[in-house]
Amino acid sequence: MTRDTIETLESSFSTLALHADDEFAFASDVAPGIGVSTTFRMGYVGAVSERVGPNGRPNYIYSRDTTNNRDRLEIVLGKLTEGHAVTYASGQAAGFAALVHYKPRRVAIRGGYHGTHGSLKVYNRHHAIDVIDIDDPYEEGDLVWIESPHNPEGEIFGNANAKIIVDATFAPPPLSYPFRLGVDLVMHSTSKYFSGHSDGLGGLLVAPSAEQATELREDRVYLGSVLGSLETWLLLRSVRTLKVRVVQQSITAEALARWLNGASGGKAYDGIPAKTIHSVRHASLQDFTASPSPTAPGQEPKPSGCHQGWDVAKQNPGGFGACFSVLLYTSAQARKIPFTLTLHQPATSLGGVESLIEWRYGVDPSQDERLVRVSIGLEELDDLKEDWRRGLKRLVYEE
Ligand SMILES: *Cc1c(COP(=O)(O)O)cnc(C)c1O
Repeated sequence: MTRDTIETLESSFSTLALHADDEFAFASDVAPGIGVSTTFRMGYVGAVSERVGPNGRPNYIYSRDTTNNRDRLEIVLGKLTEGHAVTYASGQAAGFAALVHYKPRRVAIRGGYHGTHGSLKVYNRHHAIDVIDIDDPYEEGDLVWIESPHNPEGEIFGNANAKIIVDATFAPPPLSYPFRLGVDLVMHSTSKYFSGHSDGLGGLLVAPSAEQATELREDRVYLGSVLGSLETWLLLRSVRTLKVRVVQQSITAEALARWLNGASGGKAYDGIPAKTIHSVRHASLQDFTASPSPTAPGQEPKPSGCHQGWDVAKQNPGGFGACFSVLLYTSAQARKIPFTLTLHQPATSLGGVESLIEWRYGVDPSQDERLVRVSIGLEELDDLKEDWRRGLKRLVYEE
């Protein structure tokens, strides 16, 4: 009996998340097995030097090179990210591998994740680089490091000479597809949304071509920064439900951010006490029509949703993500609020099914002392609202 393959079925997102690796399931198990072997029995004389055996299946040799579950995971991740996926031990390891790959002389970056700046410092010890601003002019050999939607400066995409890498951790597919905007390499910390259950550290680079992915994989064998076997299995388990999780988290986060924003300016609103919320920041609340460069006389006004030629709907077609930040009225309130809420747990990181809240100054002293970062999970919106009402009241009455 013959069957269709996933290719001939032209499947879409969640179907691919569940079936893109079907052809690579070499056991009869419906769920992939937890394989932890570091070394594999060779099938025949000479198997060590041939990547594919006579049966058409890969020859697995040693787990730092590859394993069946890692192949399966990377096939699925490649389909979902519209490229060729290479996994790493962490987001940091993926970012470092990108630096090793491009060997930039200069890196253009502004703000964003503090760990990336730590990586650049370590890299700089071995290979001198200059760090420049993303608005500086670029030269051949520069690497532009963008974090999106955290620092979404879409206007630089037209710059031809530099390579552009996007850290899209905050907006995994189906929220955003950076290759559609012409970037050169996409990076994710899979510890966040891809893993989604706060239980698997991991990272990912997505290359637009199979050749570039092969180069990255060859380097990875010697960098040694491979995703562990258990984490590989956990991540493969988690990506099956990526879309339903992330889309729902994003919808709940946007609704909660809009609701909290009703109390902005210290107003009392729908059970939120006065003088608690200064402001709320989330891409869904940004005013993209307020262009910083005023329209010159005689020039066409910029259409709504555009900011210096940046169309936000195009950048995040699937939603704005499940992370937002709240500026409390005072820094003392910001320090305490993670401990007066009940459903939002006081912890760093994001993207998991359980909601988290963090006083960001504690891990990143470049941030405003009144700022808390919130990552929304899969709890019900009304329960999260009630958690904020109670937590903010406790803050005010116990001050
Ligand atoms: C968490 C994070 C990283 C680092 O990823 P790890 O998996 O923790 O190493 C990089 N970039 C962003 C935007 C992150 O949120």
